[in-house]
Amino acid sequence: MIFKLETGFVLKKFLELKHSLLCALYFLIIAGLILPGGYAFAQEDTPQGPVYIVQDGDSLWNIALRFGVSLEDLQAANNITNAGQLTLNTPLVIPGLEGVNGVLTTSRVPLGENLRSLSRRYQIPSETLIRLNHLTSPGEIYAGANLILPVQETAAGPTRRTVLAPGQSLLELAVLNGTSTWELANTSSLESRWLALPGDVLHYPGGAAPGEEQPAGSSGENFNDSPGALPSLITGISLSPTPLVQGQAAFIRIDAPPGLQLEGSLAGYDLHFFPDEGGYVAMQGIHAMAEPGMYPLAISGTLSAEDGSASFSFSQNVFVTSGDYVYDPVLTVSPETIDPSITQPEDAQWLALVQEYTPEKMWDGVFAAPVPPEFAECWPSRFGSRRAYNGSEYRYFHTGLDFCGGVGTEIYAPADGVVVFAGPLTVRGNATMIDHGWGVYTGYMHQEEILVEPGDRVKAGQVIGLVGATGRVTGPHLHWEIFVGGVQVDPMEWLEQVFP
Ligand SMILES: [Zn+2]
Repeated sequence: MIFKLETGFVLKKFLELKHSLLCALYFLIIAGLILPGGYAFAQEDTPQGPVYIVQDGDSLWNIALRFGVSLEDLQAANNITNAGQLTLNTPLVIPGLEGVNGVLTTSRVPLGENLRSLSRRYQIPSETLIRLNHLTSPGEIYAGANLILPVQETAAGPTRRTVLAPGQSLLELAVLNGTSTWELANTSSLESRWLALPGDVLHYPGGAAPGEEQPAGSSGENFNDSPGALPSLITGISLSPTPLVQGQAAFIRIDAPPGLQLEGSLAGYDLHFFPDEGGYVAMQGIHAMAEPGMYPLAISGTLSAEDGSASFSFSQNVFVTSGDYVYDPVLTVSPETIDPSITQPEDAQWLALVQEYTPEKMWDGVFAAPVPPEFAECWPSRFGSRRAYNGSEYRYFHTGLDFCGGVGTEIYAPADGVVVFAGPLTVRGNATMIDHGWGVYTGYMHQEEILVEPGDRVKAGQVIGLVGATGRVTGPHLHWEIFVGGVQVDPMEWLEQVFP
């Protein structure tokens, strides 16, 4: 009886359990049928947050790293069970970015943009750009940096740019441009009409201004290629190379009308702009020993009243990368060769020769080799190699390019110029310096004989001296230097490329 009762109880319990298990299984099947479809629907039509389209070469790990989310969160948000399984062109929802919508793309920051201008150009709040890119300071928006941008299909139309002059009110500026203060503030994402600062570049709806390049609005882009943080009279700005390289010259070109007075600085050096083919060019050598990293570039300009009256100032960080120079074996030299009491005054004298900026550009095209063809590609030592003397640290570098050639080999001017120095020096031996204009100079050392005098105007290919072994050398050769903006740069570049 007891046994029977118990059996019945157990059986009843078993049936109840079986029923609930079946119910659970049934629910799971139904859920399994509905959820994937329902999920796909949600992903395609109403994504919760911005999406990223999987590109060739992407891994889930790299995507998580790029957007600063955990692999687990990324998998969960997209219902991915196998992290190794990633299909090309699949839209992935990036979690943790509530309030951000659109397709996330990576774009290189051009010169002439800052956080404010990019925010206005793409009509994205600055805070969103900061969050998306994990920026800790606006200085991280350096030229050439990779920036993540949410691109929305419903983008605003092309905008025109104008700049607020000191002492000018937003109302005056609006009237001058045929727009309203409201439109200026709205299109420029100003939180209030009182937040416009003098020199601030503001945007308002409309096509390209007269003389400004037509924006690429028709092709679906909502901006033109002109630099957004600079006034519309600047139709283009470029920097090369990007990134900048230790021991190479930086070239900045600004497309703007004549009459613009430009000033600036790069990595602490003053920039000197010269008119060139409908714009302005400044060149500055980056020191071969400059620490790789970010350096500030600042440019300001004034247009006189008769030319239309405008002023602006702009700054952006630029990146300097390593020149990958080799380390020469430690050299042993006689101590007086590196005695600062001898080298420093001579270095100062040599550098003082290259500080002037002659407005006339005397060179044209690539520089010619300064030695006869049989030695033109014979280089016992290249520019930039790191050097240590008598057990010192590697704090020296080779400041020029050495050419072979026995005593008496002819030395040629590589381009037109004016001789600014010709004479004997203790370390450099018989030395010559030629000014080629725009802050570009070439120097010649250890000559047997100097065949020019200061003030001489020389032509490209003219014999200016003879190779020798004067000064502190171990054998005859020509040590040849090129200065740009008071800094030695790799002469090899000038033999191969046309600058600027
Ligand atoms: Zn040398």
